[in-house]
Amino acid sequence: MAAVIDGKAISAKVKSEVRQETEALKAKGISIGLAVVIVGDNPASRVYVNNKKKACAEVGFESFEYALPEETTQEELLALVDKLNKDDTVNGILVQLPLPKQIDEKAVINAILPEKDVDAFHPVNVGKIMIGDFAFLPCTPAGVMELIASTGVEISGKECVVIGRSNIVGKPMAMLLLHKNGTVTICHSKTKNLAEVCSRADILVAAVGRANFVTPDMVKEGAVVIDVGMNRLENGKLCGDVDYAACFEKAGYITPVPGGVGPMTIAMLMKNTLTSAKIKNSIAL
Ligand code: NAP
Repeated sequence: MAAVIDGKAISAKVKSEVRQETEALKAKGISIGLAVVIVGDNPASRVYVNNKKKACAEVGFESFEYALPEETTQEELLALVDKLNKDDTVNGILVQLPLPKQIDEKAVINAILPEKDVDAFHPVNVGKIMIGDFAFLPCTPAGVMELIASTGVEISGKECVVIGRSNIVGKPMAMLLLHKNGTVTICHSKTKNLAEVCSRADILVAAVGRANFVTPDMVKEGAVVIDVGMNRLENGKLCGDVDYAACFEKAGYITPVPGGVGPMTIAMLMKNTLTSAKIKNSIAL
């Protein structure tokens, strides 16, 4: 029977550490600000943005929200990014994705100064992750690393399988596991014998975007199973990529959805924003 990895509790611990450091910086006259930009009125994006603002308040950051209309042009959004790049009170800039179709997401990500790119999506930060010389880690994979660390299971030398190869989750996830000396396999929609590959994993990370995709035959006895998936079912319930109930007996450790990876993503965003402020003020990380 699996031990449940409590993402809510671990994220609360990360945020409390960020809050302590933020208060220490405030005592030195340094305040921290995160700018959150949302374009249009995608309901899921609105929920994410509200959660990020709430987390800023919890850790003692200032949050600056820019809610732009759906018809915003690329030039207008780039002008705002340029303004925020130059604003000394802004340590981190987060542009909530997806953006409306008239705006090229890549152009916007590339316009954010790498040192304020707290999502770690800018090519400079992506490259730094590749070579292992990074200040920011992309929030979701970084959160997963914290969850794995909480189990006490050593990554070094272990078989790690990541299902999914997106730029924001799968690829950086694989890279972080590799930096910790895992033997990493990345699976995707063209992978052959997926179940067999997954069933070799001591650490299995699912980032597929398909409800209940991971079934017990894909899980090794005692494995650490991390579920990144957030899928909305027809009945409105949130559901992960792992068939939690069915895999629970076989896994050694497992994350629930909700309450697993989700809260970690926001906690790591707070940590990245703190890191940005520390670098700017030449404070040791
Ligand atoms: P994505 O860009 O759609 O990528 C999905 C990946 O899964 C792709 O690499 C795809 O392979 C692979 N895949 C799809 N069907 C497959 C199949 N039948 N067999 C094997 N691989 C398959 O999604 P994403 O942005 O990485 O997100 C993945 C999930 O994580 C989503 O549910 C998303 O909502 C969730 N998410 C959660 C958080 C959080 O904070 N908890 C953050 C980000 C994302 P191909 O490349 O071959 O198409």
